[in-house]
Parts: sequence; structure tokens; C-alpha cells
Amino acid sequence: MKPSDVDVYAPPENSHVSPRALYVHVPFCRHRCGYCDFTLVADKDDLVPAYLKALENEVNRLDGEYEVDTIFIGGGTPTHLSTKQMERLAEILLSRFQLTAGGEFSVEANPDGLSDDIMKTLSGIGVNRISLGVQSFDPEVLKTLERQHTPVEAQAVIERSVDIFAQVSLDLIFGVPGQTFDSWIATLEAARQFPVRHISTYGLTFEKGTDFYRRLQQGRIQVAPDDLERDMYAAAMSQLARAGVPQYEISNFAAVGAECRHNTVYWQANEYFAFGPGAARYVNGVRSTNARNVSRWIHCWLNGKSALQEVEQLSDEEKRREAVFLGLRLVEGIDVSVFRDRFSSDVVEIANASAQQHLQTGLLEIADNHLRLTLDGRFLADTVMADFL
Ligand code: SF4
Repeated sequence: MKPSDVDVYAPPENSHVSPRALYVHVPFCRHRCGYCDFTLVADKDDLVPAYLKALENEVNRLDGEYEVDTIFIGGGTPTHLSTKQMERLAEILLSRFQLTAGGEFSVEANPDGLSDDIMKTLSGIGVNRISLGVQSFDPEVLKTLERQHTPVEAQAVIERSVDIFAQVSLDLIFGVPGQTFDSWIATLEAARQFPVRHISTYGLTFEKGTDFYRRLQQGRIQVAPDDLERDMYAAAMSQLARAGVPQYEISNFAAVGAECRHNTVYWQANEYFAFGPGAARYVNGVRSTNARNVSRWIHCWLNGKSALQEVEQLSDEEKRREAVFLGLRLVEGIDVSVFRDRFSSDVVEIANASAQQHLQTGLLEIADNHLRLTLDGRFLADTVMADFL
């Protein structure tokens, strides 16, 4: 399907259903960390004005105004923008999108260079949730990851954030080359000392095209042993649960009521708007992704042309399978009755033979009218979920 075949940006005028979530990608960082394959440019702040103009053009691709329940500004490092640039970004978004009363407005941020001024600006534009890329409280691990902040700086930023934002989330990484089990436990314990109600933990991956991947190929860096990584993941599950922040998704932990509402839209296979280079949206049953090349995306939108890289109209069967694939990420799993009402089919029946086998071998279970991964299944989540695609 060609991008022009379908309106990937907005629901039809007569539609009663409109996405209730908005994602915006800000592709700027001071430095590219060796493991990072996100869509971004490092140390190219001169592109920010053109990015904002291009973003305005892309957002204005929509007619009318839309009310959303969640806004998520991700990156990159959105807080790399100046206060004026951040205000301009908010002006562009809020000209088309209104956050419903009680809505969630998240921004991703790095402890590195996160000034009081930018935090005040975020609060002023309505941000009520900040997700901090802390990654570790071990200076050696931060050095390996090429992060630009120290543990002390991270602690100071967390303390200031909890005073300003209703919700604060910390991102942590395990399975880093050279990281010991004790270092990971110390990081989890340090995180627990703060009154934060949401923590994300990610196992380090070596993505093609990254500096870490090259070093891995050259034998200059080692992947963490599988059993160590498994122990680290298990420790996060048990320690954070004991701290009142239980797991609710493969990589996410939250106190009751503090789950990320925006990301839950993705896991429940609901639709969302998205703007910015590399941004992926789901509107009108069509998934589409913008060009990842930041300069190309800017150039296109400065010239009034859309910069779509991929467009995929999902068939009913694909929608069903995707809903299972995504829904299994949630610890509570997929509500069998809700699934039947939504897709007019039985969630278990769409499982192929290997997925059926996971029910027999105990990686999947049906309990409380939900299909879900068991605890053992969570350790092999990627393999089990892939069998539904
Ligand atoms: S700060 Fe985050 S987004 Fe920026 S390069 Fe590092 S990992 Fe990637």
C-alpha cells in the first residue's frame, strides 16, 4: 500500500472513534551513548528551530482539535531543548490537542543538565509525569554505558523531581558488560530509597549499527551471561514487589494506580497519534512510521511533504494477533471476555500449535478469565509472544 492510499494521520470526519493518546519524538541528545539505536542526532542543536517548524507542519497535517487522555514526549532527550524551545513545542502540540482533565502528560528526561528552569517550564506547560533515564547508581556502570551524569547528580535530580511532578519514574538497565549482581542489587536498593512509584528495568541489548554491537563483533565487549541476566531480572521482580512497586508489565513496575497510562495504550493495542522523526502511529487501523533520518524528516516537512517510511493496513486477523502479542506483555494478561467482545473470536483459538504448547508446558496460563504469561513465561516472553504473530 502506498502512503497516499489512506489517511494515516487522522480518523475520518464522521468517525466516532479517535485515538486518545499522543506521542511526540524529540530527537536531540548531547552525545549518543554507545548502546543507543534510537532516532536522534547528537550535538546538533542548530537543527532545533527547523525541527520545531517541521513539527508544526506535521501537526497541522491534522484539521480540527482532538482531546487526548495521555501525552508522551519522548526521545532522544526532550529536556535537551531550551526553555523557550520547550514552550514552543508545547504551543504547537496544544494548538491541536487538549489534554483531558486528570490526563497524564509525561516527558522523558536525563539527569544530565536537567536544570530547575526546564523543570519549572515542564510543570508550567502541564507535565505531571517525568521519566528519568537514571540507568544505574554505580559510577562504573554509568561509565560503561557512556552516560553523562553521575549517581550524585541523578540523586539530586530525583529529589527535585518528586517535589515538582505528581509522578516520577526511573529507568534502570541490567546486563551491562562488567556489571555484577551486587552492583545491580545496590542500584535497586538505591532506587527504593526515593518516593517514586514507577520503575522500568531493561536488559541491555546490542542493536545492529550501535557502537556496542561493533565492539561485540570485534570481541572487545562481552554479553552478560544468560543466568546472570536472569538472576538480575528475578531480583528486580522480587525486590521491587517487596518495596510496594510490583511488576505490571515485562519491563515495568508500579505502585497500584501509578502504571503508565500512555504505554498501556500500546499494550492494549489501542490507537494513538504520533509526530516527529521515527515516530510510529496507529490510526484508523493503520500502523505507520515516519522516516528515522532526522534531516530527511525535517526536509520533507519544511517542504510540506509527509515523510512516511512504512505504512501497514492491518487485516482483522493481524489486529487480533497483535492484540495478543502486545497484551501478553501485561502481567494481568488478556481478559478473555473483553477480547471476545472486541474481536469476535476466542483468544486461545487463535494460538498456533506452538502457542498451545506453551499452555501445556506452563509458560502460559488461563486464570481468572485471563490469558497470561506465568512467572516462568515472563523469562521467555519474547519467544512465547512471537508464537502469536
Ligand atoms: S541519552 Fe538516551 S536517547 Fe540519548 S543517546 Fe543516550 S540512551 Fe540514547
